[in-house]
Amino acid sequence: MKKEKEIKKTESIKWELSPAPESTGHISLKAKYDLFIDGKWVKPSSGKYFDTINPANEEKLAEIAYANASDVDKAVKAARKAYSNIWSKISPSERSKYMYRIARMIQERAREFAVIETLDGGKPIRESRDVDIPLAANHFFYYAGWADKLEYAFPNRKVESLGVAGQIIPWNFPLLMASWKIAPALACGNTVVLKPAETTSLTCLKLAEIIEESGLPAGVVNIITGFGDTGAAIVNHPDVNKVAFTGSTGVGKIIQRTVSNTEKKLTLELGGKSANIIFEDAPIDQAVEGIINGIFFNQGHVCCAGSRLFVQEGVADEVIQKLKNRMEHLYIGDPMDKNTDIGAINSKEQLETIKKYLKIAKNEGNKIIESSCNTPSKGYFCKPTLILDVAQSSTLVQEEIFGPVLTIQTFRTVDEVIQKANNTPFGLAAGVWTDKGSKIFNLTTKLRAGVVWANTYNKFDPTSPFGGYKESGFGREGGVHGLEAYLKI
Ligand code: ADP
Repeated sequence: MKKEKEIKKTESIKWELSPAPESTGHISLKAKYDLFIDGKWVKPSSGKYFDTINPANEEKLAEIAYANASDVDKAVKAARKAYSNIWSKISPSERSKYMYRIARMIQERAREFAVIETLDGGKPIRESRDVDIPLAANHFFYYAGWADKLEYAFPNRKVESLGVAGQIIPWNFPLLMASWKIAPALACGNTVVLKPAETTSLTCLKLAEIIEESGLPAGVVNIITGFGDTGAAIVNHPDVNKVAFTGSTGVGKIIQRTVSNTEKKLTLELGGKSANIIFEDAPIDQAVEGIINGIFFNQGHVCCAGSRLFVQEGVADEVIQKLKNRMEHLYIGDPMDKNTDIGAINSKEQLETIKKYLKIAKNEGNKIIESSCNTPSKGYFCKPTLILDVAQSSTLVQEEIFGPVLTIQTFRTVDEVIQKANNTPFGLAAGVWTDKGSKIFNLTTKLRAGVVWANTYNKFDPTSPFGGYKESGFGREGGVHGLEAYLKI
């Protein structure tokens, strides 16, 4: 009790900050975007376009071409021609020159990219500016370095490019996901047909502009926009040699079935329900900050979000109280404001999904604590929420919510927490907070998760591989491992 009082005493005032909106004066958006096929902007054969909106105020930003199977066919043919005639023939160091150029051009236009990413996707400008765009450029730099060193990456083995890569990406890190996929594919000598998610096409189309300006030979990268049926047409196209998909587990399973009786190489990066584990000996304040960062920043729109907190019993009250305090100090609202911690949910559909899970939490009788902050009246917003007293078997613990919702469970022993942490269909990431190196090593070997962060969370680097176990998918992106996915070895 005394401890709780002490913690409460440390509560500070939430400052009323003056608005600090990022300027939009320097960006240029067209009213209508066509498809980028064979180095040219072409109209969709159906003549159909759809609106892309700003989820923070529901205003239309631009119209986006809706590609059908015939457009996909054109893009694949262009990619095949570019592969056979140019890209597989030029020297690897030439390939890397183009990639370095693209990386530098992303850096030069970083501010424009960050603003458009935030307008189209709803994520705070701080995150687009400090994470998404720099990392996207870094992936091009990193893989440009590998293009002429593949023989060193796989010594004594013969490596060959695959051909045409069909790549389908989600809406949570649009430009970054595009770079994760395009950069290793190009470095390994493949050509690309990429489709961004329907709610966040703009930065990929801006990347197409850069690709055009960079002088990359026509057809090496084709960017086509549309919905699930456009993605399915890429997966089904008989002349695609490799499919790389990041998105929901449901769609991933459909793709795996489609590809299973073909020779297409496949990598899937799917959902997650990652555990963040705090031991009694952890630096608690640092851990609380890591948990907040792991689930609330970027609205929980991260496949590897630390959406399940496991806290050792002895520090449970302290951690929960500190989380509540910290949650009250988060700024939610206009994603373009540089002070905003939590921006808009990406789409109305996603907000509905999150609400559905919150309703389940209520029906299950879980203790729900949400921030007392106000949310803007327009746009799609969700308050950061904690769900306590939740059972291991609960839907909230087992299914991916993809929103700013954190379930909290307690544990006593190391074995118990390993068992609970591993007990979901997913295995993408995990976090461990402790003062003891031995505990970290013990858990990293026993947690069935592709990435385990120790005393930090959500840290990415182009040199380290990323990917999952179980229903979180297979194959690795990033690092040397990321090259394997685009090579015949
Ligand atoms: P989310 O539920 O996070 O929106 P999805 O898996 O539905 O994730 O979408 C991720 C990407 O997959 C998007 O680009 C989407 O258009 C695409 N997509 C959706 N359905 C299919 C499908 N059946 N085949 C291929 N791509 C698809």
